[in-house]
Amino acid sequence: MTDAQAALPLPLETPLHQVRGVGAERASQLGRLKCQTVEDLLWLEPRRYEDRRRCCTIADLRLEQPAVIRGKVVAMGVKTFRQHSKSVFELVLDDGTGRLHCRWWNQPYLERYYQEGLELLVYGRLIQLKPRTMDRPEVETVEDNDEAAIHLHRIVPVYPLTEGLSQRWLRTFLWRFIMEQPWRLPEPYPGLPLGGLPSRADALRWLHFPETDTAARLARNRLAFDEFFALQLTIQGRRKKMQAAARGLPCAGDNRWIKPWLAGLGFKLTEAQARVLREIRRDLGGALPMRRLLQGDVGSGKTVVAGAAALMALESGRSVALMAPTEILAEQHYQTFQRWFGPLGIPVQLHTGSRKTTERNQLELAPASPAGAAAGNSVPAAATSPPGELYVGTHALITDDFAIGRLGLVVIDEQHKFGVVQREKLVRKGSYPHVLVMTATPIPRTLGLTLYGDLDVSVIDQSPAGRGRIQTHVREGSALPKVWEFIRQKLAEGRQAYVVYPLVEESEKVELKAVTAELQRLEQNLAPWRVGLLHGRLKAPEKDLLMRQFRENQVQILLATTVIEVGVDVPNATILLVENAERFGLAQLHQLRGRIGRGAHDAHCILVASARTPEARERLQILAESADGFRIAEADLALRGPGDFLGLQQSGLPPFRFGDLARDLKLIEFARQTAQDWLARPVPSAPLNPPSTA
Ligand code: ADP
Ligand code: MG
Repeated sequence: MTDAQAALPLPLETPLHQVRGVGAERASQLGRLKCQTVEDLLWLEPRRYEDRRRCCTIADLRLEQPAVIRGKVVAMGVKTFRQHSKSVFELVLDDGTGRLHCRWWNQPYLERYYQEGLELLVYGRLIQLKPRTMDRPEVETVEDNDEAAIHLHRIVPVYPLTEGLSQRWLRTFLWRFIMEQPWRLPEPYPGLPLGGLPSRADALRWLHFPETDTAARLARNRLAFDEFFALQLTIQGRRKKMQAAARGLPCAGDNRWIKPWLAGLGFKLTEAQARVLREIRRDLGGALPMRRLLQGDVGSGKTVVAGAAALMALESGRSVALMAPTEILAEQHYQTFQRWFGPLGIPVQLHTGSRKTTERNQLELAPASPAGAAAGNSVPAAATSPPGELYVGTHALITDDFAIGRLGLVVIDEQHKFGVVQREKLVRKGSYPHVLVMTATPIPRTLGLTLYGDLDVSVIDQSPAGRGRIQTHVREGSALPKVWEFIRQKLAEGRQAYVVYPLVEESEKVELKAVTAELQRLEQNLAPWRVGLLHGRLKAPEKDLLMRQFRENQVQILLATTVIEVGVDVPNATILLVENAERFGLAQLHQLRGRIGRGAHDAHCILVASARTPEARERLQILAESADGFRIAEADLALRGPGDFLGLQQSGLPPFRFGDLARDLKLIEFARQTAQDWLARPVPSAPLNPPSTA
């Protein structure tokens, strides 16, 4: 592509099987490490580094501390027992200071690879002192030939391996490939200030064969930075483009509905709610379309804020779309908003996959014109809705044949269930409506900056007063009889309960059978109280009926899959029982826990985890100790990694090779700032001249 690239030894996109020294078989092995091209191989990240400049002596080994040892094999052999059904292969190494036993269970064939007298490098941790023993250490043979400079007396990379690929071969190959060729990697953004991070070219060498630990870390940081920077550039670029193209629709309202509505709510807004509403009103009356993320822990009262924001737009003669992630939640919002807005004479429509209160919006969606639907474009006038309606719905709201006229504000509840793409699609329905995204998932800052880097953030950091406390108990399965008794007692006091069943939504019939058996067990244990079963496959009318019965306390216990996770609001339900709680992430359990503690009565969240998983119970203990959603989310992210963090897979976030969302807050912040500065630089069209920093 560029001059610099033309000077490369090989084009980066060259398939590996065309590279000298890599045959078809090696190429397929490397393919299993997700390396298809030269570029993939250049950026193959070592699993770890091993400092072979000074080995530890066997005599100095400490229990449990990972260390590298160099010694000679002085004895070896396989022992079998239990009629040959089990075996252990053992090697004894001597380095002149002591002996080290290395063991491998049930891999008798390993014997073939070693012999007495062989010199080995061994990496592992000591599991006992008498005799000094390591289980399954990583082993490399030492051959004192010309390759010593690659494998010894330096910090060496240890790569991920696959069947048939040896550490030695891969390391030697990468040494020749990377260190002995004149790679001149171009900087993707010449002149970009890097805050002390190395160039791409240095990063490549330091990634594989660093001279110091610091060099290895800096190399990784540079590569992670590049990933974050590219993403931030997209996010900030999109925002800038939107800002250049769009004018904010005047939606701040005139208070004629909000005033009486607030007066009739029955409670006063918390200070946090009031502050957030001021921020929203400023946006709605501003020159640019609002792009705001509203974070507030479960139960902090986001729906009221959404209601007030909706009224501002409605007062301004605009329509509002409120999108929820599940039908149950859409239905619940529909009822709430009918109750709230009905008396004000504002039409409220429900639009979900299975329920529509109106059919007249089914029509060809006219191509969005910059002037917007307001001017009355090709959408037939009779078919568009009159100004000032509220549409509540699920993602059915974004189906292409559904049009909303004079759309002024889009509110997306519980954002983490929606991908970026869905958000964009809904928003494209009008001419740049204002967007308010609400989430109860406290998002660790790293994720917030990457997932929602294009949004301004408001936080409701205060819960309405007069709530009962939530106590969280972590129990073993053996405590269940006591748990049932406790629940029966609370039911007798007039409370209600949720029991969560870890059913994967939309999964097989088998699971439905299991959940039906669970239903019978609950009915037995909790008789005479009535149990209802709620899962994602119920038809809408059945679901509505059940939710109404639960709300009206005709059904006392709701056995539910995680469909109740988001937003369901029944203040009299004060018990939440989660069996197999170890199967859930902490953030998800925190969400579930948010279903209770919504009324004046004390609430109890009971997490049952099997006795076989002590670590899991320890993890759950974090929930017992903290009600702070942010702390829990950070812990969850650190423990489980971003892949498992709520709906992240659907989030549209690119996979990061080097970047680590759980740890790279500083880099992400730096990348964000750098991207903002880069986009704001005075001469964007001259890539080879570094921008002046004046
Ligand atoms: P979430 O933030 O989880 O969506 P909701 O909006 O569902 O929370 O609010 C939870 C409950 O608290 C609702 O029953 C709501 O009516 C009530 N609520 C909201 N704001 C206040 C307030 N300022 N004072 C008292 N109760 C409130
Ligand atoms: Mg909510």
